[in-house]
Amino acid sequence: MELINCGRCGKLQVQRPDTLCRDCLEIYISESLVIKEFIKMNPGATVMDVVLHTGYSLKRINETIEQYKI
Ligand SMILES: [Zn+2]
Repeated sequence: MELINCGRCGKLQVQRPDTLCRDCLEIYISESLVIKEFIKMNPGATVMDVVLHTGYSLKRINETIEQYKI
C-alpha cells in the first residue's frame, strides 16, 4: 500500500488514480459544477469572465473546461 500526498492540501493518503484526497475531491467536484453551471448560463462568457465570477484560478477553470469538453 503506497502513500502519497494529496495534490491540493498535502494530506497523506493511500494512492489512488487521482491525486486528491476525499475532502479535496468533493471541493473539486463542486467547483467544477459551479464552473459548468456558469458557462451554461452564460454561453458567450470568456474564461476571464468565469475567473471574475467564480474567483477560481485560470488554471483551475481551464482544467474543468478541458475535462468536460465545454
Ligand atoms: Zn486534500
